[in-house]
Amino acid sequence: MQPDKSFNPGIQTRAIHHGKSYADNTGTVMPPIFPSSTFTHGNPEGFDYTRSGNPNFRILEDVLASLEECKYSTVFASGVSAITAIASSLQSGDLILCEENLYGCTVRLFEQVFSKFKLQTKWIDFSNTNSLALIDGLNPSMIWLESPTNPLLKIIDIKRICDKASENQIPVVVDNTFSTALLQKPLDLGATLSLTSTTKYINGHSDALGGAVCTQDVYWKDRMDFAQKALGLQPSPFDCWLITRGIKTLPLRLSKQVDNALALANELGKHPSVEWVRYPFKLDHPQYELAKKQMASGGAIITIRLKADQKRTYTFCKNLRYFNMAESLGGVESLICHPATMTHASLSTETKKKLGIDESLVRLSVGCEDFADLEKDLNQQLSQLL
Ligand SMILES: *Cc1c(COP(=O)(O)O)cnc(C)c1O
Repeated sequence: MQPDKSFNPGIQTRAIHHGKSYADNTGTVMPPIFPSSTFTHGNPEGFDYTRSGNPNFRILEDVLASLEECKYSTVFASGVSAITAIASSLQSGDLILCEENLYGCTVRLFEQVFSKFKLQTKWIDFSNTNSLALIDGLNPSMIWLESPTNPLLKIIDIKRICDKASENQIPVVVDNTFSTALLQKPLDLGATLSLTSTTKYINGHSDALGGAVCTQDVYWKDRMDFAQKALGLQPSPFDCWLITRGIKTLPLRLSKQVDNALALANELGKHPSVEWVRYPFKLDHPQYELAKKQMASGGAIITIRLKADQKRTYTFCKNLRYFNMAESLGGVESLICHPATMTHASLSTETKKKLGIDESLVRLSVGCEDFADLEKDLNQQLSQLL
């Protein structure tokens, strides 16, 4: 049943109860999967060909817009497809002013693909106060942010940058994958576009790829829908169905993951094999106050620096029982990643150094397992480093 807006349903209710199932006369409780590539001309819902729309896309777009509390959402085949859709809306010669610590594949896409079409990028530290002056000075066509950043969990003051950008009518994109709309709402902070890789927390089960762009602006919704069909960036109906199903437990999953992460972040710092722990809602985070203001909770990613060289750091990662050494994040299962040789391997030594990514750094994506088991697993292997 469609949630009654006047009832003002909460987030968990909205995650479970969708709008239309597009199969009204069947009594189906779960929406069906519509694998059809094509639709009969003149059907009442206006579907024609799946590259430009499908019932499973619309069901997912509706629930994502409801979580984000915004008007529009467009779904894509992956987070990278969503990034491609936004970048493709710009013109040759346009400048994107980027946070210097963006997701690695965003950097690769801008520097190795869109640069060939003369899309220009400039990389700056948006946590630095003089970044506001650079917005005036450079007058970019777009600003691209990510907060918290990966893997060092730097927090960027989204509202302050959006306020400045809006003076010059510069659209701001926020990659919100690490937080999701449950922990941080970029559009409420003034962003034009809120981008998410639904592969991560939104789906939550590491079994589908997807991306989405949310906006309040019909102009941008039209551009995203155009990019979906014109560039062939559409997802598969089956993946949309899986992600829609995953969302039903998103609030539950995330709340358990955040509880586990906060408790682990506070615990890990006490171990003598740990040099430091970085977590947005940990008191010693350099931007703790801003994190508290901007986010509903600190999320479920923790970055730690071990007192160990690369070989021993690797052994630590490999010997954990419940933290699988793998890229990606946000699933119900805990993962550990060595950014210097995995997610950030393609960066130059110099860039890694500048960003603070070294051989002793590990990133934890905390899952939904029992806290005691995760704690015991980490403590056992940390003690092996002594
Ligand atoms: C994973 C990720 C992406 C890319 O998403 P895919 O679904 O893997 O294409 C973009 N941004 C961030 C922050 C991510 O973690």
